[in-house]
This record gives sequence, C-alpha cells and structure tokens, in this order.
Amino acid sequence: VEMYLHNIKLYEHLNAFNEVFGDEAVIMAHHVDLKIKQGTAGRLAGMVIAIKDNICYKGHKVSASSKILDGFTSVFSSTVVERLLAQDAIIIGRCNCDEFAMGGSNETSYFGPVKNQANEGRVSGGSSGGSAVAVQAGMCQAALGTDTGGSIRQPAAFCGVVGLKPTYGRVSRYGLIAYASSFDQAGPITNSVEDAALLLEVIAGADEHDATVANLPVDPYTQNLQPTTGKKRIAYISEALNSDGVDPEIKSLLNTYSEKLRQDGHVVEPVSFDLLEYVVPTYYILTTAEASSNLARFDGVHYGYRSRNATDLESTYKRSRSEGFGKEVKRRIMLGTFVLSAGYYDAYYAKAQKIRRMIRDKTNAILQDYDFILIPTSPTPAFEIGENITDPVVRYLADIFTVQASLAGIPAISLPLGNNTDGLPLGLQLLTKSFAEAELLRFSKYIL
Ligand code: GLN
Repeated sequence: VEMYLHNIKLYEHLNAFNEVFGDEAVIMAHHVDLKIKQGTAGRLAGMVIAIKDNICYKGHKVSASSKILDGFTSVFSSTVVERLLAQDAIIIGRCNCDEFAMGGSNETSYFGPVKNQANEGRVSGGSSGGSAVAVQAGMCQAALGTDTGGSIRQPAAFCGVVGLKPTYGRVSRYGLIAYASSFDQAGPITNSVEDAALLLEVIAGADEHDATVANLPVDPYTQNLQPTTGKKRIAYISEALNSDGVDPEIKSLLNTYSEKLRQDGHVVEPVSFDLLEYVVPTYYILTTAEASSNLARFDGVHYGYRSRNATDLESTYKRSRSEGFGKEVKRRIMLGTFVLSAGYYDAYYAKAQKIRRMIRDKTNAILQDYDFILIPTSPTPAFEIGENITDPVVRYLADIFTVQASLAGIPAISLPLGNNTDGLPLGLQLLTKSFAEAELLRFSKYIL
C-alpha cells in the first residue's frame, strides 16, 4: 500500500484519482496482514485495487466525475465492491472518468482530463481513463472500470494494459451509476491476464439485486489459463482493415499477429461484416435513449448538487440540471430524449433496436464458425488532449471497433500487444461467444 501511495503522489499530475483513500487503505492492509497470519485471508488478500468513480462504495463519495453529484456519499456498496471486500482486497481510491462514463478520452470529466503516462500530452482514453492510468503507472495493482461501448477496453489499449468487458449479464450492475442499462458492465483493468481472470472470478455471478445477471455458474478462470492445445479458428473483419480511418501501424500489428497465429497452426481468415457502418449510429441512438431516462433522477432534489438560484420546484430541476451537467452529458440527454419522442420513436429508437438485433445475430453467426473475432481496439493510438474535442461525430466514430461487442452483449478483451514508433501503446481486441470468458482468457494468456 505504501508503494502504491508513493506512486500516487509521484504521478498526481496525471489526474488519475478523484479521491485517494490513503489512511483507510493502510488500516485495511494491517487488517489483511493479520488475517494472512491467522490463515483466514480471502483470495484477494493484499491486492490493491482502484475503482472507477461511478461504482458505489458505502460511506465513500461517488461523483461519476460530475458536478451534479457534488457532495454525494454512497449509502450502500455495489455488489462488485462487496465481493472485492469479501475477498480482502484493499480499495485505494476512486478514479477519474468521463462524466457519467460518456466519452472516450476522459476529457468530459468535471475534474479535467487524465494524462497518459506514455505521453503526457495524450489522452488516457476513456471513459475509465483514470482506472487505466492508475494501473499503467503502478498506482494500484488492478482497477475496476465499467464498459458501455468500450470504456474498459479502449483506455486499456491506450495505456498498454489488459481490459476485459464481460458478457452482458455476467457481472452485477447493482450499485453502478447507470449510463445505458442494457449495455453497462463492470470489469477488470489489469497488468496481466491472470489478474483479470482472478478479478472476474471474484466479481462475476448471480446477484439477487440485479435480475439481469445470469444464473450460470462462474467458471474457475484462474484454473484454466494453461496454453491452448487445440487449433483455433479466428476471424478478422475485412471491412475493418480496408477502412482508411485505421492507423497503418495498427493494421500492421493485426497482420503480424494474424501471421503468428497462422504459423502456430490456427486458422485466421477474413470475414465480411457488412453492418460495420451501422454500429456507431445504432449504439449512440440506443445508449443516449437509455441515458436520457437514467439521468432523469438527477434533479437537484434527490442527489448532490442543488442550484442556489432556484426559486421553486420547476426552477430547482432546471437550474440544478443546467448547472450540474456538463456539455456532453446534456448533448446526450437531448439526443436521447429526441429519439424517444412521439414523432420520432419509430424512425430512430425502434429502428435502432431492430438493427441491434441484426448486429447481434450476424456477430453470433460469425462466432458459430469461428472461436474468436480479432479486431483493433481503437482505430488510432492515444490522440492529443484537445484534438477534435469540438467535433462529437469524429469522437463517436472512434468507437467503431468497441461497440460491436457491446451491441451484441458478448465478452471482449483488449490486449496490449505493442507500441507504435512514437512509443504509444497499441491494443488488439478478441471477441467471443457469450459466457465463453474462460476460453477468451485462456487464449489471451497464450497470445500475450
Ligand atoms: N466512448 C463510448 C461512449 O462515449 C463508450 C463509453 C463507455 O463505454 N462508457 O459512449
């Protein structure tokens, strides 16, 4: 704990933490130490973990990196936090993120951007940017993030660490601040596949507080990491590689790994996924619709920030929300409200639901023929802080490779597989069938 606290101090300027639970972590460490000596310690004893600041932890502040939750303290713990604590993990702090997890660069945070340790002029990625940098810079051993459309995987890729988004329904969402409920999943950001396997094993599984979690037993992921024996069939999406928007060094990384896998006897083939151009619009219609509804609760009355300029109930709502939410969050609430509105519901929301089904079916059809889909995590490495910040469409399009798994509800992992010529980390992503995390982790371990 002292070592991590030292690093947190050393890298304070990267802005990865919204709050550090320093004294508390030291006390917890003494506690765990005692348990270890008594032989009663849990599976995560001594593991120092940071949590994204949209995950509730009883008695601790939680802000979703928004002004609107100013001063708010969690009155209960999320299931994921309960499960970490039950296994004697030490929670060292809450990490900066995009406001309400809406973004892919950590720049929408009320508390400012997180800097990438590999190059401090570059973004950390997002929305779980603080979590990724905390792991990258050795400010904790592992972190929890949440992923709605890439928020674990993309910052992991930008920071050179491992990021796993579990199958929708593998991990409880109880106590996560909701962005888009039919997409959100919590998952690990780690230095190794072993740590990702261990954390998933601890946090996954049925929960009476979240009816969308599957009742399926949790596989012993950590016992299943020995090298793959059988030959695997791997698809890469031809449209992804033919697109101009993809950085040439990322294309060549993908080619290098495809070739390596072929040499090991695996089959690596191009497949066509002609719905690729629809994934981003579909994702943004559905997630903004869900967000506009989820964020209705932040009204200046129930939680956190309340405008001092209000004169009655109506103006309390209006002013608290106007002053409390940032620009990107407002944009998404308005977009979501629009696509759900009476005259446009069928044209946008209902249509997007249908296309989501098509994307899911088509993705699952590919995964009937292949064990994994291999695609870049992001079309580019970490970009400069401030770059294209005024153009939301450019930013949204950068999610093209992460939202497919989110729309399909399948698990996906980003693996740090190299650096570009400027020393920026590059990641590739593996996607697989729902609830096949055991095989996904095993193959990841083999590749990494
Ligand atoms: N960048 C995507 C978005 O802004 C993903 C965010 C997330 O997964 N929370 O919606």
